[in-house]
Amino acid sequence: MLTKDNKWPMPAQQPQHFANITNLHSFALPATCRQLIELTCQSQLPEVPWNAQTLILGEGTNTIFLDNFNGCVLVNKLKGLHVKETATDFLVTAQAGENWHDFVVFLHDKGIHGLENLALIPGTVGAAPVQNIGAYGVEVGTFIEAVAGWDCKKSEATLWSHNECSFGYRSSRFKRPEWRHIIITAVHFRIPKNWQPVLSYKELMDLPENVSATQLMERIIAVRTEKLPDPSDIPNAGSFFKNPTVPEEFARTLKAKYPELPQYPQANGQVKLAAAWLIEQAGLKQVAYGDAAVHQRQALVLINLGSAKGEELKRLAQHIIRVVFETYGVQLEPEVRLISAEGLMAHI
Ligand SMILES: Cc1cc2nc3c(=O)[nH]c(=O)nc-3n(C[C@H](O)[C@H](O)[C@H](O)COP(=O)(O)OP(=O)(O)OC[C@H]3O[C@@H](n4cnc5c(N)ncnc54)[C@H](O)[C@@H]3O)c2cc1C
Repeated sequence: MLTKDNKWPMPAQQPQHFANITNLHSFALPATCRQLIELTCQSQLPEVPWNAQTLILGEGTNTIFLDNFNGCVLVNKLKGLHVKETATDFLVTAQAGENWHDFVVFLHDKGIHGLENLALIPGTVGAAPVQNIGAYGVEVGTFIEAVAGWDCKKSEATLWSHNECSFGYRSSRFKRPEWRHIIITAVHFRIPKNWQPVLSYKELMDLPENVSATQLMERIIAVRTEKLPDPSDIPNAGSFFKNPTVPEEFARTLKAKYPELPQYPQANGQVKLAAAWLIEQAGLKQVAYGDAAVHQRQALVLINLGSAKGEELKRLAQHIIRVVFETYGVQLEPEVRLISAEGLMAHI
């Protein structure tokens, strides 16, 4: 497949040994890996050296290397876009190494609307299904018809239908540790032609019902730019924690005690709580360990003020989890993927 600039994919490069990967994750903690391979062409897939310590990386905006990593990092740089249409839908295939925001803009410019609420989310197309990226009332899984991947254990290509992907809140089957041997190579989207803007979030509610897709995207970009730190200015990995969900009865008890706590009832009888509120109201905004700190405008985002170390970030996150639990009885869980010397960490 040609890339969107009508070029053929780059030829494969030689693996690098003991490579510096500080710039390959947006939290930018100093780190190296034992081996670094760039995946630029599908023909490399059968040669991928697979073992329990192989880690697939997109742009590293949801992954934090807390230490030098003893394994092999495989950076996904597969490029290419393809658009077809039926009477009712656009069928779009994007190779996994495409940049997500560029992809949203590409579709928007072609008059294919639906993903505008997800504009400016950093990272690659291939990582989008992994945690079912979402923002401002839209989740990517809604538009995914199938995910194509390479099974490193079986050494074969596979396709998972929408239902087989098990999309949930910031989760999918691909996020489970036992699915780490799957390299997502391409994502197939089905985007309905009858676009309806999603304006349910408070930052969008003042937009008129006949808002254009361009106006909506511009608003999303403006809101995100104001609220979230740009990793190239202040290294961070977006929301460090997931918004926790609790049973309805417990949510009612919390509401009685903390009437201001934002709560979002879910379809499954659970209630989602705003983790940023819990952190801020527990007085944790000023806490820092070395250069690992809480962002002042968005308490859900932890930041690297310059020379933070993995151990400092770990202690900061543990401190926040402990104080939030002691204060509200609510357990926070990291949304980010934390990588130790040995690989993906199950807990912090
Ligand atoms: C400032 C900022 C704002 C953010 N805002 C949002 C937001 O609004 N909503 C949201 O959902 N997320 C948000 N994020 C998180 C992040 O942008 C997304 O999770 C994004 O999808 C990560 O893409 P990536 O390519 O950087 O993934 P990486 O960090 O490289 O990888 C993330 C995970 O996916 C796996 N992975 C990556 N590529 C593949 C592949 N091809 N095959 C199999 N597994 C793969 C990795 O092993 C890892 O476990 C934000 C991050 C930042 C820094």
